[in-house]
Amino acid sequence: MSAITMKNIVKQYGDGFPAVNDVSIDVADGEFMILVGPSGCGKSTLLRMIVGLEDITSGDMVIGERRVNDLAPRERNLAMVFQNYALYPHLTVYENIAFPLRLAKMPDGEVDKLVRDASSTLELDEHLERKPGNLSGGQRQRVAMGRAIVRQADAFLFDEPLSNLDAKLRGQMRTEIARLQKRLGITTVYVTHDQTEAMTLGDRVAVLKRGVLQQLATPRELYENPGNLFVAGFIGSPPMNFLPATVEGTSVKLPFGSVEIPADRAERAAGRGLLIAGIRPEHFEDASLAAEEERSGSTFSAKVETVEWLGNETYAYIPFEAPDEVREQLQQLEKDLDGDSLRTQLVVSLDGSSRIAEGEDAEIWVDGGRIHLFDPASGENLT
Ligand code: ATP
Repeated sequence: MSAITMKNIVKQYGDGFPAVNDVSIDVADGEFMILVGPSGCGKSTLLRMIVGLEDITSGDMVIGERRVNDLAPRERNLAMVFQNYALYPHLTVYENIAFPLRLAKMPDGEVDKLVRDASSTLELDEHLERKPGNLSGGQRQRVAMGRAIVRQADAFLFDEPLSNLDAKLRGQMRTEIARLQKRLGITTVYVTHDQTEAMTLGDRVAVLKRGVLQQLATPRELYENPGNLFVAGFIGSPPMNFLPATVEGTSVKLPFGSVEIPADRAERAAGRGLLIAGIRPEHFEDASLAAEEERSGSTFSAKVETVEWLGNETYAYIPFEAPDEVREQLQQLEKDLDGDSLRTQLVVSLDGSSRIAEGEDAEIWVDGGRIHLFDPASGENLT
């Protein structure tokens, strides 16, 4: 197994802006690394450069101790698992898994041992004589992984392997991939545009936007301390609310009222004029339900336009006006995030027992300790 080091990697197609722009990422031996970002951010191109399907314009790609820039894909000893699994329909599961070993002209006895070991790890023993056409999507995925395992590849590379599956199967396969990766301890790079996959699978996650690495961190760090507006808006569901804000002393003035925030946060954002505040929907609560210890935040009154009750939680939608000074930045952010249009309503996620009703004024509590403040020009998180 091997670490993968990407150093100042650039990919330039023609003369547009680079598809991958000076990206440096170290994937540790045995680590599960996610490359995530909206369509066109360069994540697939980066993966294809690791595996050798795409030339590297500049920078160094190092796998283990070897610089592989000029090595053909088969010389890199990596195993790529594609979205469509690339299985041979006329071959049995056994022969599909054995395929790379047959190519390498391995004796039958050794082939048999490796295939049986892999199929037992992947719980495919019962299906060895079947053809891919008679397997479920999840089983096909495991066959594709089996083929990678028998080759004893230095790393697994996945390109959106679950995007063809329905939501239920996607969830199951996600758990399965995570379990197998941990068990095999194999270095893995996994491309997805799905932030749930990124958060649940990754030891660390690299967030990309238009070819540029935005942040490389653990899922928890991305959620709790997003480095900029883009990462803040990309990670989290429903997405973080963005609101115009000004800081006065230790309070943040927001469209619906003032909220007290910790002094150190306020200090870092002081004297900067109009900022963009970011508050996750789950950091609000129905004031009547907020626990005693949560009362340290602030409560405000707002007219709720729409309520969605999901049983365990309630979403309430509260309209607000975005002032002209930050309209353009927020609009650009929505575009970067593949959103439709400027969001002009606050989304708050409350406990399912909340009795908040549409069209009424509600008392809403907000956790001042978890408000982020962003510089509108650079997008940098100041808190
Ligand atoms: P998606 O999720 O849609 O696959 P992505 O994040 O994987 O997107 P890439 O496929 O890596 O993005 O593409 C990055 C950029 O490079 C895009 O702007 C794309 O149009 C461009 N690009 C990709 N392949 C080529 C190519 N062969 N020639 C020219 N431009 C390309």
